[in-house]
Amino acid sequence: MRVLGRRVYWRWYGEVLLSGNVVLRMTGDAAKWLCPGDSVRLSTEFKKPLLGFDEYALWGRFPLWPPFAKDLEHVREGPLGGEAYRYRLRAREAQFEADFEAIAELEQYHYASEKEVVALWVCPRCGQTLAANSKPLCQCGGEARLKEIKGSTPASRFLVLELKERLPFEPRILGYLRLDPPIPRMHRRTPDGRLERDIRERIFPPDWFHPTFEGGEDWEKALDQVETAAARIARVVVHPDYRSEGLGALLVQVALDWVRERGAPEGRRAKHLVYTIAQMARYHPFFEKVGFRYLFDTASGRPVLFYPLSEEAKEHLEHFLKEDPYARAHGGRLFQKSYGQVAGLPGPIRLEDVYKGYRSLLDLKGLSLEVEEVLSAFGVKARRVERAVLRGADLEVPPRSLVVLAGASGAGKTTLLRLLLGEPPDAGRVLLPGGRVAAYIPGEVEVPLGELPLLERLYREMGEVRAAIEVLNRVGLSDAVLYRARPQELSTGQRERFRLALLLALRPDLLLIDEFAAHLDVPTARRVALGLGKLCREAGITLVAATHRPEVHQALDPDLTVFVGYGGLVVVPRKG
Ligand SMILES: [Zn+2]
Repeated sequence: MRVLGRRVYWRWYGEVLLSGNVVLRMTGDAAKWLCPGDSVRLSTEFKKPLLGFDEYALWGRFPLWPPFAKDLEHVREGPLGGEAYRYRLRAREAQFEADFEAIAELEQYHYASEKEVVALWVCPRCGQTLAANSKPLCQCGGEARLKEIKGSTPASRFLVLELKERLPFEPRILGYLRLDPPIPRMHRRTPDGRLERDIRERIFPPDWFHPTFEGGEDWEKALDQVETAAARIARVVVHPDYRSEGLGALLVQVALDWVRERGAPEGRRAKHLVYTIAQMARYHPFFEKVGFRYLFDTASGRPVLFYPLSEEAKEHLEHFLKEDPYARAHGGRLFQKSYGQVAGLPGPIRLEDVYKGYRSLLDLKGLSLEVEEVLSAFGVKARRVERAVLRGADLEVPPRSLVVLAGASGAGKTTLLRLLLGEPPDAGRVLLPGGRVAAYIPGEVEVPLGELPLLERLYREMGEVRAAIEVLNRVGLSDAVLYRARPQELSTGQRERFRLALLLALRPDLLLIDEFAAHLDVPTARRVALGLGKLCREAGITLVAATHRPEVHQALDPDLTVFVGYGGLVVVPRKG
């Protein structure tokens, strides 16, 4: 059948008119690529002139409708392998109004400027255009609808990552990716400062990047001309509470399938390449993890990474990496780890026949008269409370191991942590090998969060901006908005992560933590614990963490679990 015309009303709603007077309802983002005269194949069970979103399938050169979608299970592995937890997800092209509203909300976390408004809305009642970061109410009382996400182009298409199984307080959309045709021109700045014009066209066949979307007043006409063999990932944004979960890399991976299977964004020509221009890639390896290779910097100094989809593209890319002197030097790699390894404890921690009691003195000073009378009636005047926490306890913690102290609240986990911090035992010996120690015991030993923006604070602590960014990324506080946020602007889960970042910035050989995830919901506590465990393993930090939460215990996957209670220690080594 032939396409006779198209109408694009919104990104989530458009119509296409086919020969035989059949009207297809679809998203505007799909409809905008169909030109009058295009030949398409329609499949439907219905014999009627107007077909809704779910009532047909359409093919052109590639499948065009229903929109691209993939169900995914994303397994988070523990630091030593094995499943820590999993996400049930659906990655699909954005198609509902609510999808685009979620994208606009997520965009706020990406933009680094407070003044920059991320979306334009339009009031259908009075026709006024409103700029706002989340759905505004018009002064006329009308309910605004999302017109455009700023920074996107009429050629952009969006992939969203939907959480299929979620708790009521978890977001529905965890992240999104924006896919565009190539930008019209791209020049290279060499490390010695020279400018090389149209660098992509020197590495790959020039027609792969042309004709592209040039914008302008008549954007429908501009879209009709786009026919490239490359696609550009223009944005990957993950919800700030779900960073460092591998979801960004997952979105990129699904986008590669989308481009491969459907020739997205325009669906007119088989694609050879996907590329991205991403300053973030210097500090975060998620594009490289998926298989992207770094080739060069743009004229404004931003790195460009490419993923070849065809053998031909791979040959051009490898040839450039071999022949270009600058590319030969970096070998296609951009990200460099800078946190590295700590020195590590010089020997094991040992407790030998340790006795330690907990004492507190109760008296009635300073109480209200009535309370004092009641307590006196119970026979409480002044009482010394004494309890043996450890009675002849032995323990050995080898360097670079992960230890969880488990047990009921008040069983003595904190007392044991205090011994490891150097508080003397009542009897027996505690042998501490030395090394740099960092600790968090709420209300007793805390690194003040301060008021400086996160990155500034970590930079001052570590003296190296790359390492500071790496620590923030590793605890899941990655992106420019969070880098410049102040601690008081963070959510509880993010603040917990920043606390860990501050402890890790000290590059400790031994890290002691007491109930660090106490105020977090189950999924957040698990995510924070998994990130902490992985980083300690990689860096060689000995971790002793007290927790009574099974999900934290499980996500840390410790070498030793030490059950504390009733005077004794029961040590259970990790299975397997
Ligand atoms: Zn209005």
